[in-house]
Amino acid sequence: MTPTTFTQDQIASLGARAETMVNSLGTVSAEPDRLVRLFLTPEHRRAADRVAGWMRAAGLTVSEDALGTVRGRLDGPGKKRLLIGSHIDTVINAGMYDGPFGVIAGILAAEHFHAKRLTFGIDVLAFGDEEGSRFPATLSSSSACAGIFRTENLQLADRNGVTLADALHAYGKSPDDIAAAAYARDEAAAYVEVHIEQGPVLEARKQPLGVVTAIIGQTYLNVEFLGEAGHAGTVPMLLRRDALAGAAEAMLLGETLARETKGEVVATVGRIAVAPGATNVIPANVVAIFDIRSGSESARAKLVDTVKAGIRGIADRRHLGLTITSPREVATTPCDAQVQDRFADAVLALGAEPLRLGSGAGHDGQAMAKLCPIGMLFVRCRGGISHNPMEYANPQDLGLAVAALIGFIERFEPEKLG
Ligand SMILES: [Zn+2]
Repeated sequence: MTPTTFTQDQIASLGARAETMVNSLGTVSAEPDRLVRLFLTPEHRRAADRVAGWMRAAGLTVSEDALGTVRGRLDGPGKKRLLIGSHIDTVINAGMYDGPFGVIAGILAAEHFHAKRLTFGIDVLAFGDEEGSRFPATLSSSSACAGIFRTENLQLADRNGVTLADALHAYGKSPDDIAAAAYARDEAAAYVEVHIEQGPVLEARKQPLGVVTAIIGQTYLNVEFLGEAGHAGTVPMLLRRDALAGAAEAMLLGETLARETKGEVVATVGRIAVAPGATNVIPANVVAIFDIRSGSESARAKLVDTVKAGIRGIADRRHLGLTITSPREVATTPCDAQVQDRFADAVLALGAEPLRLGSGAGHDGQAMAKLCPIGMLFVRCRGGISHNPMEYANPQDLGLAVAALIGFIERFEPEKLG
């Protein structure tokens, strides 16, 4: 298909429409003063209905699967389908762009092809559970589409003790239908997602769009130091076994080692628990959770090993007991090289630089990659701010992103994927 040449006016119009739709979904909230839209709630229902209406208006055939994922379908002559999706659930006190813009971009792009002839079909997917804000699991919706939904997750409960199974029933769905939500492998050509960057790289590089190379892998290390409680006034400094001082040293070591990788790996301790936790008692027990992420499996593994060895040295020197466990490990999900290249071609055709970057945040593509090749396009967002009501992307960039997605679809050749 000959790629469309977009005028500035067309891009501005796509951007204005996208912004209006983002703002519209941004009003669908459980609370009047902040955006909260959790999986399988009345707000989810309202958002799903609004999205379904937009899909119908764009000429798509709408259905809903067992997890409440709204699917807008545009048929092609063959069996192959390009899946375009994102999520309509939010974190608590969310911004309006994270998730909804990807769904809206998919709808506006699909609309462009309504009267044209593609060699493959398009499904626009609006997932309801990416953030994991209601139940202690993430990516349920995309996992069902990818055929990797874990049935045991049906027993997970939200803060009010409502299980996922109960919530599905209340939403009018049946867990028995989950298996049928899975795409057949020979049907799903690829999964692509447009998403705000949620980081500061594109803004710093003065580029509106970025082609994602991988969704980065992650290791959690649960590090527990065991010292000895004692009176803060009577125990001399040299006779102490202070678990918190040991943990502090370990945290600084993690920061130093990650900085030395020059951007390849990031390491964070966002949560510590101190016991007994009194101002006048030497800390006896500290649990610190290290979150270590990288787009490179080997760089992450290397940093995890160095951090662990360093922490062992600290515990030895300070005569502290130590246990390190790794409760969660997520492998890096690479984006398909051909999908990346076609996105890059589309971005270049719009006169922008196809900057390549990794995604530091998790996305539905991690589940969809178990089904088919995946790819992502990032859009610059102001200040790199996300998961925050201040989240913002300007309409010009939104328009460019929709145009780039259209350009990608025009260049996409399912038969050339490996
Ligand atoms: Zn998101």
